[in-house]
Amino acid sequence: MPDLKANLAAVRRRLAAACAAAGRPQSAVRLVAVSKTFGADAIRQAMDAGQTEFGENYLQEAVGKIAQLPRAGIIWHFIGPIQSNKTADIARNFDWAHGVDRLKIAQRLSAQRPSSLPPLQVCVQVNISDEASKSGCTPEKTPALCAAVAALPRLKLRGLMAIPAPGANEADSRAAYRRLRELFDARRQSGLELDILSAGMSDDLEAAIAEGSTLVRVGAAIFGSRSHK
Ligand SMILES: *Cc1c(COP(=O)(O)O)cnc(C)c1O
Repeated sequence: MPDLKANLAAVRRRLAAACAAAGRPQSAVRLVAVSKTFGADAIRQAMDAGQTEFGENYLQEAVGKIAQLPRAGIIWHFIGPIQSNKTADIARNFDWAHGVDRLKIAQRLSAQRPSSLPPLQVCVQVNISDEASKSGCTPEKTPALCAAVAALPRLKLRGLMAIPAPGANEADSRAAYRRLRELFDARRQSGLELDILSAGMSDDLEAAIAEGSTLVRVGAAIFGSRSHK
């Protein structure tokens, strides 16, 4: 098991340096620790080191871990792609969903969110890299989707999320994150109260923060490299 405490401290130092370089306070960027493929024990260790927000991609695996850990004190983010057959479990088990990229999915999440829970916090995922294979709605469709999601009763639209093309160099990922931020600014100017730009992972969090990210999703730099995906 890697030294999660040291890894988390190193990631927090990177966040602090990136925020300082961008002239932003460190409190402007939330850290979601992406614990996919790692067990409940690793999450407990990260919690002991002060981490409270965790991100998961694989629903079955995540639901098992959520059941093993105390519900209070952890904020769970679903960051994977969302198919229709997953919406009920996401709506029941998670606090956030970052991969909302079409209205049908949003409508199902809203209808299935239990009334005993606060609204599900949502980011609309945008495809900023023009990759046919990637999930995410097109930049052109983002305004209409955001407006429709914001109107759903059991969801709270918080912002936009994107994953740049894998292997992008720093200039390319900055350009992609800049396009995401421009879409975000335009939605805010249109009157939506958005505060979350979900952008940046282990390899590119500096680029994302330079372009205005307010939430980074960091896995490998905290938990170590994964054996798959
Ligand atoms: C796995 C994953 C991450 C974390 O990636 P790392 O490179 O391990 O930091 C972030 N966001 C999403 C959507 C992911 O699937």
